[in-house]
Amino acid sequence: MVQPSDIPKVIQEAQQRLDLIFERLSVCPDTKQRLSVPHRMVEAAIPVRMDDGSLQVFRGWRVQFDLTRGPGKGGIRFHPSVNRDEVTALSFWMAIKCAVVDLPYGGAKGGVRVDPKKLSLLELERLSRGYMRAMADVIGPEVDIPGPDMNTDERIMGWMSDEYDTLIRQRRPAVITGKPVAMGGSRGRTSATGEGAAQVLQIWTEQQNQQPEDLNIAIQGIGNAGYYFARAAKRLGFNVVAVSDSSGAVYSADGLDVDAIYEHKRKHRELKGVSAKKGGEVSSLSNSELLALDVDILALAALENQITQDNAGNVRAKWLLEIANGPVAADADSILLDNDIVVIPDVLANTGGVIVSYFEWLQNRSADYWTSEQVTERMQEVIRTQSQQCFELAEKEQLDLRSAAYMQGIRRIAESMDARGTQSDFKNK
Ligand code: NAD
Repeated sequence: MVQPSDIPKVIQEAQQRLDLIFERLSVCPDTKQRLSVPHRMVEAAIPVRMDDGSLQVFRGWRVQFDLTRGPGKGGIRFHPSVNRDEVTALSFWMAIKCAVVDLPYGGAKGGVRVDPKKLSLLELERLSRGYMRAMADVIGPEVDIPGPDMNTDERIMGWMSDEYDTLIRQRRPAVITGKPVAMGGSRGRTSATGEGAAQVLQIWTEQQNQQPEDLNIAIQGIGNAGYYFARAAKRLGFNVVAVSDSSGAVYSADGLDVDAIYEHKRKHRELKGVSAKKGGEVSSLSNSELLALDVDILALAALENQITQDNAGNVRAKWLLEIANGPVAADADSILLDNDIVVIPDVLANTGGVIVSYFEWLQNRSADYWTSEQVTERMQEVIRTQSQQCFELAEKEQLDLRSAAYMQGIRRIAESMDARGTQSDFKNK
């Protein structure tokens, strides 16, 4: 029997956000118990020969939180603050996220405690290959499929995939996603998260009987996800009036030229000097001013915990789109709710990336590779169906969108667990 002391603190906290959902769904106590302890946690030492001949041992983790709905899915992050609890919490949220959009996956996550900026390229390659050697026994196309996350990219996924093939002496590209296209990666993966988020926003806009042309957007974090979101949102007719990065923010009421901004940022590594869409004036803002802009939509595409109980009261946007993972802290939820600000949650809004990762896995297993158009079309189909279901559930159950998305995910996980046998089956015998 699982005792409360067995449940990691991070999971207790995550589950507090879900208590209401467990209650409303009246899920069998088995499910809650199963979802309170990770299925498997692996902690490994990863020895790496450094360029100067010394040996450095890094610590790495892979946590598979729940595999009821399918093999584990979740990225691997390289960061100096990675720890077992963080990886565990992220693996839990991956289980929920995959279920929200009905992918046949469980939830997993991996990480290595390292500052990758301090490694040479060859040291980074040795570490990446070392991680795969350490975890190969618990990873596999039918067991657990990693992908990129913070500070890991397609080159690292390519090294890991190659290492796995070397270990098992077979070609198994479906072991990992986010690989370069030349190694079996999917077309459309790079833009998927941003494109997907824009589509979720479009569906919500339709649901609210509003026109994109009448709505303006401020975006915190014009990195990969933020840029592709801005580009797609503009194409759909929304007006992007402000963007920020870690160096500051820019604003133009006439709308910003997001392609020029991305190019400018690539060249100059900062936003100063960017241009507006119709040549209008561009003004500089601080990051906190961007968060408090009087816009229709605030899209958060930078980091976690950006809106907290300290600044939630300053938000003037009417909709908040969570493109980053966890950008709204749990303590800000009720403040936003009281101020009638709709939060479109991360577990729905940023699923474009994991959906296209699923497509990559499908393509690798069938050896049938899709065009970019096919990828986009199929991603849109999944996002439309799952977003509409979530928005309808919110309406029917009179829930905020975050609670509705959690309900959609937990219900699916619970159904899958129940299908394998429940306490009531036993009692009816
Ligand atoms: P990225 O590193 O490409 O971009 C992050 C951007 O945020 C950078 O431009 C950075 O300058 C900016 N930033 C950092 N701190 C900031 C601050 N305080 N204020 C304003 N801007 C700031 O990363 P990314 O891949 O775009 O990911 C962004 C977020 O989206 C992360 O939370 C990530 O976990 C999440 N996410 C990304 C993907 C994906 O496919 N890229 C998928 C799911 C979730």
